[in-house]
Amino acid sequence: MTLVHRPVLPSVSPGYLHKLIPEELPEKAEDWKCIMKDIERVIMPGMTHWQSPNFHAFYPAPTSYPSIIGEMISAAFGTVGFSWICSPACTELEVIMMDWLGRFLGLPETFLRSSGGTGGGVIQGAASEAILIAVLTAREQKVQKLMRKYPELTESEIRGKLVAYSSDQSNSAIEKAGILAAVPMRLIPADKDNQLTGQLLQSAIDEDLLNGKFPVICIATFGTTGTCSFDKVHEIGPICNENDIWLHIDAAYAGAALCCPEYRPLMTGIEWANSFNFNLHKWMMVNFDCCAMWFKNSHAVIDAFTVNRIYLDHKHQGASDRAPDYRHWTINLGRRFRSIKVWIVLRTLGAEKLRAHIRGQTGLAEMFENMVRSDERFEIVCKRTLGLVCFRLKGECSLTKTLLDQITARKQLFMIHATFDDKLMIRFVICGHNPNEKDMLFAWNEVKTQADILFSVKEVTENLNNKCAISTQDFVDKQRQFSSCVGDIQQKLEKVK
Ligand SMILES: *Cc1c(COP(=O)(O)O)cnc(C)c1O
Repeated sequence: MTLVHRPVLPSVSPGYLHKLIPEELPEKAEDWKCIMKDIERVIMPGMTHWQSPNFHAFYPAPTSYPSIIGEMISAAFGTVGFSWICSPACTELEVIMMDWLGRFLGLPETFLRSSGGTGGGVIQGAASEAILIAVLTAREQKVQKLMRKYPELTESEIRGKLVAYSSDQSNSAIEKAGILAAVPMRLIPADKDNQLTGQLLQSAIDEDLLNGKFPVICIATFGTTGTCSFDKVHEIGPICNENDIWLHIDAAYAGAALCCPEYRPLMTGIEWANSFNFNLHKWMMVNFDCCAMWFKNSHAVIDAFTVNRIYLDHKHQGASDRAPDYRHWTINLGRRFRSIKVWIVLRTLGAEKLRAHIRGQTGLAEMFENMVRSDERFEIVCKRTLGLVCFRLKGECSLTKTLLDQITARKQLFMIHATFDDKLMIRFVICGHNPNEKDMLFAWNEVKTQADILFSVKEVTENLNNKCAISTQDFVDKQRQFSSCVGDIQQKLEKVK
């Protein structure tokens, strides 16, 4: 059965797999055919199909055939590329791919290795890793500076006063990075458009400075997970600069759209960033996992994390700007050869097809938005941005909740909810492998039909309730008449006595 015809959501309950797999590994080697059969029998029932065109939850994580080939070649090499000597091709291709991508997105030259400055890019596994690395780098740089500035304070006194900023709309990965890095992350409530503004950041900083805190980093978002809003980086940037606060921009989903010049105005102020990340595995046809990250000053990350051992030394270290030892840029020592899948995807598709992919999917989102707008029972909650449409049924939030529950139970579409302006809404994102207009029609038809059912059930229930209400009223009236009759008779009987 092809993917389109399989339900996008599975029908299993937690613990289902326990009953299908033996307690222990087999003693004797098994036949490949049996194993393959079990993928259909055991694994498939428990799959949520991220590649289905009917998957519209979270953000996309599509794969592509060139990317699968790249992943297989990387697995076949089995390279562990922590330093240049571990495979010069692995390191050098990563440097070149990061420059290719940086130029493709129109990033400021200062982020690129080819600029000849301190800029440079690295491939991390996920946005969460990139954000954590940014927080840790900013923290170490800040602590070093503060120790020089305040020799009377101990290191732990300094570390105890650090603080970081982001908006309450930022991804959970940011709050988590604060916990992991032991820097309290202040999640500033965003404005009515879900954006972090310069003014909001400034007042948080002022308050913290008054309390003797040391601001370290601000993490702004281009394309929040809830509503795809964009923080006002052109306002935030100068404030960070004045206060010597590291500015990291998380553009996990929306960053890919920078390859289309018409979307660059969404991301003004990017030149203020000290570091920036976007996920190729979200919107650039490279399968999970692959997150691109750039630094304006890559020496900061190297200084923060350099740890040496005799067995890690090699005679070429530091020999060329184009041959860094990437182990200093990441959490893990071992690193996958991810740049090969990037290289294969970028070459197989070319810039033109990648731009067409972003534009095509944005067009599909617009098509879905127009269908929602054409039905007056629905409303678009906040401005559609890129491939995300936020919509709801007008009126009580419970209506939208019931509709989403009903749709999810049928497993034909997978969408999730979020809130905007205290209103519950449904997020519809263009995801999956190669979705097309037919898939949009299918999705809208499912939403519309379920809304029809919801409203007719609602009408019937209300009618029933109304009927009950009338008969109850009748009953009360009759009872009243009856008891007054009884009262009359009793009085009459009394008189007769
Ligand atoms: C998806 C997402 C993340 C987390 O991405 P991972 O690569 O899974 O860590 C972070 N920030 C934003 C805005 C996202 O949309």
